[in-house]
Amino acid sequence: MNDITIQALGQSGFLLSSKTGRFLFDPYLSNIVAEKYGADFERLIPTPLKPEMIKNIDAIFITHIHDDHCDVKTLSGLLKTNPHLKIYAPEICLPTLLEAGFSKDQIAVAVESEAEVKKDVKVRSVPAAHLQIERSNAGSLNCVGYILEIDGVVFYHSGDTMPHDEISQALPKSIDLAFLPINERNFFRDKRGIIGNLTLREALTWVEELGIKKWIPMHWDMFKLNSVFPEELNFLAKKMDVENKIQWLTCGQVMALEVKNR
Ligand SMILES: [Zn+2]
Repeated sequence: MNDITIQALGQSGFLLSSKTGRFLFDPYLSNIVAEKYGADFERLIPTPLKPEMIKNIDAIFITHIHDDHCDVKTLSGLLKTNPHLKIYAPEICLPTLLEAGFSKDQIAVAVESEAEVKKDVKVRSVPAAHLQIERSNAGSLNCVGYILEIDGVVFYHSGDTMPHDEISQALPKSIDLAFLPINERNFFRDKRGIIGNLTLREALTWVEELGIKKWIPMHWDMFKLNSVFPEELNFLAKKMDVENKIQWLTCGQVMALEVKNR
C-alpha cells in the first residue's frame, strides 16, 4: 500500500505525488494575469510554492491556453529545476510552451487516446466545453480535461468546462477523485470577459450523474471577480444530501488518498 498525496496550488493547480511519480495540473504560481489585465486580477492568495522549488516532476498537464492555466512564467520556472519534464497540452498552447523554453520533444499534444506517461501512469484527454467544445480543423481539441490513472487510481481534472453530454460519454464509469471548477458563468462575468464554469447546482448534479466518488472544488479562490464562498457550496450540498463527496482543499493544503490493492 502506498498513498497518493494531492496538494492544492490555487485556482486549478494541483500537485499529485506518489511513489510512482509527481505530476502537476495547470500550475499558476505567478501574477501574470494581473500584469497583463490589470489590478482586478491580482492574486487573492499568495503563491504557496515558488516554481523553482518544486522538484522531481515527471509531467505537467495543461488544460487550455488561458494564462491562469498555461502560465509561461510558472512553466519556465519549473523547467529550471526539472529540465527533463514532459508536458501535455492542447496543440494551441504550443507557442507558449516553446516560449517557456520547452523543446519540441518534451511536448505531447493532448490526445483522446490513452498514452503511457510512465510505468503505472496512463493519461488521456477528454473534451472540455469552455464555452463550447472546440476543435481545430485537424480535429485537435482546444480545451481539454484529463483522465489520469496513477497506480490504478482514476483522477479526472475537467479543466474549465460546462457540463456536456459529449464529456459525460467520454468519461470512465468509475472516477475516484475529480477536480471541477465552480465559478459559475453569469451576465456580469461575461461582461468582464470572464468565461465562467459550472454553477454550484450543476457541479453537484453532474457529480451524481457521473457517479464520481469524491471531488475537489477548484477555480474559486484566485480572483475577486471570480470567487465563490465555500459556504455557498456546502449549504447546497447539505440540502441535496451530497456533502460527503466534497473534499475541500485550500491553497497549499495537502491530502492523502489511500491506494488499496487494485
Ligand atoms: Zn480558468
